[in-house]
Amino acid sequence: MASLREFQNLMARIYLAKDSKRGPEGTYKWLKEEVDELGEAMRENDKEALEDEFADVIAWLASLANVLEVDLENVAFKKYNNCCPKCRSIPCQCQCKP
Ligand SMILES: [Zn+2]
Repeated sequence: MASLREFQNLMARIYLAKDSKRGPEGTYKWLKEEVDELGEAMRENDKEALEDEFADVIAWLASLANVLEVDLENVAFKKYNNCCPKCRSIPCQCQCKP
């Protein structure tokens, strides 16, 4: 099974040259655009479009992380270290707004 790190490395091999040229701000704009499209697909209740937009969002998130030299797998598992980072429970016991 492929890991998050392998996916980020794949995005680097395919896009890092272009992403670096565009820079962090431009890459972040694309990520925001894809998050908006994910919201649209969600509201349209179109499963195929939804899956496609999830793929785009994680691809642009990985691109931005590559440009900023952030290891997504490392930071994600460091923060969410087998529990909720706030209450340290599984499942989360935090009293947050719905
Ligand atoms: Zn919690």
